Amino acid sequence: MIIARNAVELRAALDSNTGSIGFVPTMGALHIGHRTLIERARKENERVVVSIFVNPTQFLAGEDLSKYPRREEADFKICQLSGVDVLFYPEVSTMYTHDEVSIKAPDVRGYILEGAIRPGHFDGVLNVVMKLLNLVHATRVYFGKKDAQQLTLISQMVQNFFMSVEIVAVDTVRESDGLALSSRNVYLSKEERIEALKLSASLKRASHLVIQGVRKSDEITKVMLNILEPLNVEYVTIVNRRFEAIDEVLIGDTIVLVAARVGTTRLIDNVWM
Ligand code: AMP
Repeated sequence: MIIARNAVELRAALDSNTGSIGFVPTMGALHIGHRTLIERARKENERVVVSIFVNPTQFLAGEDLSKYPRREEADFKICQLSGVDVLFYPEVSTMYTHDEVSIKAPDVRGYILEGAIRPGHFDGVLNVVMKLLNLVHATRVYFGKKDAQQLTLISQMVQNFFMSVEIVAVDTVRESDGLALSSRNVYLSKEERIEALKLSASLKRASHLVIQGVRKSDEITKVMLNILEPLNVEYVTIVNRRFEAIDEVLIGDTIVLVAARVGTTRLIDNVWM
């Protein structure tokens, strides 16, 4: 595995490549969710590139940038064992200069839900993903459905800027008790981890209601909110794939989303129907 620490080293590692490239962008602290994306990329491409970059521009002031988990040694090992060809591990100073050209998330879709609670977060995400995609020249790029709004916005960016990369959306990987894997789960105490199960439990209930024929969004969200008590819920909402709020579930075009704080840790989860 080649470890590239800046853009020049990355291009040197990839310039002679002629086959397909599968790319998995991450912020590190790799878990089985990330590994699932890497394995999928490994199966579908001749070469696999993973980036580990805790991108400062997507963290708001007061967020967990400085304490975001960093696990360099373990992450390198996971990448190596997962058959990654090139690991891109840049310093912040090699990725940004002063007074840059930047792109902005769309006014509505980029500033509702996650974007309302974290205004500007998606601007940071889109800018770094644009940079990474322009560097890697990937054939396919892999994102988790867990970050559904991020995935939708990146798909829109790729369309709006006529970028030639295929986006592969990967199902959320969960612990056996339902908790969605997240690098932020390490912040949870034992008691909080049990409380955190309310997110996936509420989504499971939503799925059951839909299977039973319930379609009204407000009926479903009401039941979910009861399950989520007494967590500090930021939103429970039902949207279509374009992230427009919908009154009724339409199978094949619906995402049920939840965001809540468990102690001081923000968790998000969702189910695609
Ligand atoms: P992050 O390191 O949190 O930026 O995540 C990197 C990629 O892994 C993103 O595309 C995430 O959506 C994806 N990801 C994170 N958690 C999971 C999970 N539990 N299952 C599947 N993909 C995930």
